[in-house]
Amino acid sequence: MPGETRVQASGTGREAGTTPGAVLIDGVAVAKAVRADVAAETAALKARGITPGLTVVIVGEDPASQSYVRSKEKASIEAGMKGETIRLPASAPQAELEAIIDRLNADPSVHGILVQSPLPKHMDANTVVRRIAPAKDVDGFHPVNVGKLLIGEKDGFAPCTPAGVQELLVRYGIDTRGKEVVIVGRSNIVGKPMAALLIQSGAGADGTVTVCHSRTRDLAFHTKRADIVIAAIGRPEMLTGDMIRPGAVVIDVGINRVDDPSASKGYRLVGDVHFDSARAVASHITPVPGGVGPMTIAMLLKNTVRAARQAGV
Ligand code: NDP
Repeated sequence: MPGETRVQASGTGREAGTTPGAVLIDGVAVAKAVRADVAAETAALKARGITPGLTVVIVGEDPASQSYVRSKEKASIEAGMKGETIRLPASAPQAELEAIIDRLNADPSVHGILVQSPLPKHMDANTVVRRIAPAKDVDGFHPVNVGKLLIGEKDGFAPCTPAGVQELLVRYGIDTRGKEVVIVGRSNIVGKPMAALLIQSGAGADGTVTVCHSRTRDLAFHTKRADIVIAAIGRPEMLTGDMIRPGAVVIDVGINRVDDPSASKGYRLVGDVHFDSARAVASHITPVPGGVGPMTIAMLLKNTVRAARQAGV
């Protein structure tokens, strides 16, 4: 990716004084680099009279969602964009949300629209996501963007978390071409789009991809032969070191809360990978937190600035 910052692939991720193990893939640093690139592109667009605009719509009071939305608004403003959040009560009828989406679709100062999930139970998420104009669907969940991703059309938007994983691999110089990539998880927001990204031809892709799920007969058989394992399972520390081929790259998308009375909040965050045992055999590994997590918002901003560039207004 010309003009983008690459992270030194070896030597930098190991902490001094610790036992040798995998290089840590630093998602905080890569996300910062992506956000700096986005800020530079935002400044260039503003010089042409275009201010990229991201509007997030949240329905209800879920504390975790409220916190994600605040982070998204803050990050977009820090990048120089117009960041806005629209808040609706949990009782709002779906028609009200749809009317807001229609207004945002028609507003030329809004380039990206994101409806925070989960929606309240009385709303139908599939209908809501189809209401967003595909050209403003920076979350990449509209079927038009899902189709473009699969076909390999570059003007669509890929979902931010798998796009962030691909960005980490590229910026760490991890070659995916011809490599055995095993993805554990087949959700529409992570596993399936991850596979769609990595089977494309071209830089950061060209992988030989296997997708595993809860019906996979012998999970370890697949993960053990992988050059790159991507875990998006939602089960704390399920993928252990003995399931990983020595020297493999391990990407942990999982974010799970586990009880920990010794932690100030009474819990701590762990991934879907058992970090210590996997780190001992892998060549590279993402920590949780601080690996894939920070990439999601960075890629949302990257999608938004491209939406603004593509809209050209
Ligand atoms: P989902 O629950 O939607 O999907 C989980 C997938 O894992 C399913 O395909 C499921 O299979 C599969 N699975 C479950 N148990 C097993 C098993 N024992 N063996 C093999 N496969 C299994 O989760 P998401 O994709 O939404 O999220 C995955 C993880 O990533 C979660 O921890 C989530 O918190 C995290 N996440 C992190 C993000 C970030 O920003 N870093 C963003 C989004 C998610 P099946 O389809 O058969 O049920």
